[in-house]
Amino acid sequence: MSGYEVLAVRYGTRTATKSESYLNYHLYGEPDESFGMDYFFWLVRGGGRTILVDCGFGAEPGRRRGRTTLVDPVAALSALGVEPEAVDQLVVTHAHYDHIGNLHRFPNAEIVVARREYEFWTGPYAGRLQLAHSTEADELERLAATREQGRLRLVEDTLDLAPGIELVVVGGHTPGQMVAQVAVERPDEGQGAVVLAADALHFYEELERDRPFFVVADLVDMYRGFDLLREMTEDGGRLLVAGHDAQVRTRFTGRVTELPAELTDLVVRIAGEHPGKEKV
Ligand SMILES: [Zn+2]
Repeated sequence: MSGYEVLAVRYGTRTATKSESYLNYHLYGEPDESFGMDYFFWLVRGGGRTILVDCGFGAEPGRRRGRTTLVDPVAALSALGVEPEAVDQLVVTHAHYDHIGNLHRFPNAEIVVARREYEFWTGPYAGRLQLAHSTEADELERLAATREQGRLRLVEDTLDLAPGIELVVVGGHTPGQMVAQVAVERPDEGQGAVVLAADALHFYEELERDRPFFVVADLVDMYRGFDLLREMTEDGGRLLVAGHDAQVRTRFTGRVTELPAELTDLVVRIAGEHPGKEKV
């Protein structure tokens, strides 16, 4: 196969401020400002596989935390022709509420998570407030249940998930935060790749100005993650997709035209074509 289709689904949004988003923002000596923060999950299709990267927050935890749900993730997938039962693999980049909230709605998927992430959130420090505030206890229990069901796959440092799809454990934001690299066909440049940074990079500004996000399990690992993302993308051959940046909508202008009107602006085509349209 020549490359995967990669879509970003913007299912939620909120207004954030810089002082509550960046670690020790006062160090930069800049005035505070508000900005739009988006919530995404990602769909990767091709080679007979349907892979989700994260699955969004649950409706109730999202509401409780003051987030706006733009579309139910499962409804968005359905409009894209993906029923939850048909998802083969669900990559959990990390176990925060806005990435695993709908895990239980994908009953057949193999769940893929970093061993360090899994062991941390099922271990003795998971409940400490400064770490636990970005998680939901019942969602972590559901993640643990997938191990008992025999459908949890743990990633050590890297994993070739499928031909052309590599997962890398970077840590930083959480103990086992992962990024995903996906081979894609680029119209003018031929073979390329998309780097789904998820929350190793919430906003492009983190990389451009070397500014860590305020939720951090290991600050040195977070800076190392920035360096890795720079290395991966500096030659321009790979497209970098930040996990929560409203710029994703403007940096990537492709859309899925056959969607209902209310969804056309919520689904961003990062690269590739629907596998059904692949030229033989
Ligand atoms: Zn997140």
